[in-house]
Amino acid sequence: NADIAMYRAKNKGKDNYQFYASEMNVHTIERLAFEARLRRALERREFVVYYQPKVSLFSGRIVGAEALVRWNHPERGILLPGEFIALAEEAGLVGRMGMLVLDIACRDILAFRAADKSFGRVAINLSGAQFNDVRLLEDVQSVTEFWRVAPASIEFEITESMVMHNREQAIVLMDGLKKAGFTLSIDDFGTGYSSLAYLKRFPVDSVKIDRSFIKDIPDDPNDTAIVLAIVAMAHTLGLKVIAEGVETPLQLQTLIESRCDEYQGFYFSKAIPESDFLQLLQKQSNTSPH
Ligand code: C2E
Ligand code: MG
Ligand code: MG
Ligand code: MG
Repeated sequence: NADIAMYRAKNKGKDNYQFYASEMNVHTIERLAFEARLRRALERREFVVYYQPKVSLFSGRIVGAEALVRWNHPERGILLPGEFIALAEEAGLVGRMGMLVLDIACRDILAFRAADKSFGRVAINLSGAQFNDVRLLEDVQSVTEFWRVAPASIEFEITESMVMHNREQAIVLMDGLKKAGFTLSIDDFGTGYSSLAYLKRFPVDSVKIDRSFIKDIPDDPNDTAIVLAIVAMAHTLGLKVIAEGVETPLQLQTLIESRCDEYQGFYFSKAIPESDFLQLLQKQSNTSPH
């Protein structure tokens, strides 16, 4: 931004205190500008949804997808969530963004089903702010009802910290979502401060083992043991286990041996636009075993 660059240059010669103060102003100006830009992006629906396949470790087939938001910025191209989610949270915009993602995903599910009758569900990431909103259940139901998408086709990914932040309220909300027919999973499992002991109290269907535990298997014996333990205990509690961040055939082999259920990762595919994902499903549907 030319204005801000000039403003910075002008202040270069001043003493340290003033320089520091003006840097803070620049930061505030930039943040406000970015917030305004985000707001407009929502109005213009500049957000798009990419899909990363979820693959069965038994059949090797695509059984679902995770919806991952992207900002298709007219000047800067495709931006990743790391570049805007935190600011959207701060600006109180992440709830609206999340509803837009759900809206797009519901529309796309209808196409995925048409391409592959056995297509399972789309997983949507919830943010902390959404999870604390008492109208969340009502809002998501209005979207699925509009598109006539069965709630069973939607899985919500929740992190441990979101749940642990306000445990009692979180359990009430999770119960509500479950009763309405939605599927729930714990994202980035193993990185938060919950434990397997808490899992039995949470009405969730699956856990996603965080990428950090997958990265060094099978070389790292500790990580390999942790993965085995998570899979065994989750299965004992009747939960499905998904591994994230699978990049190599050796990781895949280790996960198959651990009896993990599903995986996601660059080894199979990164997150791709809806039309590319649809093509993968059509290809799979042509080689259908039935
Ligand atoms: P997440 O839910 O844990 O999603 C997994 C992230 O890991 C994605 O990054 C995905 O592209 C990346 N990934 C997948 N496979 C691999 C792999 O094999 N190797 C490596 N190195 N990375 C892999 P992405 O799309 O940049 O999303 C980052 C985070 O942003 C997500 O983490 C999620 O917490 C958040 N996010 C994404 N979409 C949404 C959304 O619609 N709403 C909200 N509230 N958060 C979202
Ligand atoms: Mg996720
Ligand atoms: Mg994750
Ligand atoms: Mg993650």
